[in-house]
Amino acid sequence: MATNRTFTMLKPDAVEKGHIGAILEKISASGFRIVAMKLTQMTKADAQSFYGIHKERPFFGELVDYMTRGPIVAAILEKDNAVEDFRTLIGATNPADAAEGTIRKMYAASLGENAVHGSDSDENAAIEGAFHFSGREMF
Ligand code: UDP
Ligand code: MG
Repeated sequence: MATNRTFTMLKPDAVEKGHIGAILEKISASGFRIVAMKLTQMTKADAQSFYGIHKERPFFGELVDYMTRGPIVAAILEKDNAVEDFRTLIGATNPADAAEGTIRKMYAASLGENAVHGSDSDENAAIEGAFHFSGREMF
């Protein structure tokens, strides 16, 4: 995957609250092109693998329960400087610390349930995109 791509998930809380359309509108208006996208639901094994880096953290069990409780929107996004610019667009992990106008400030309820995922590096964007999509699903 090119380094101008990032990977996102609109997490179960955002889907449950009916925020898919508003969040996708904000992503598009911020200059990201959708390369791949689907509504899907992760299994426990999927979430344990996807968030494997956090497996020793005290919140890991809650994170897996949260991320598997309902459907998510998974997507690959393209833009110059995609990883960094998307992290700026979503805001801090804890919505209480997120800047005004960021997706997490607008749509996230708490540190645990924070509406949206964004890759933290080009390397992880490629790994995370490939976790959810085959080459035939990327445009
Ligand atoms: N998380 C949590 N408690 C914490 C830190 C993180 O429940 O103290 C959850 C939260 O949903 C977060 C995810 O675990 O988005 C992954 O954490 P990370 O530190 O990678 O934050 P992110 O990269 O999503 O901003
Ligand atoms: Mg992270």
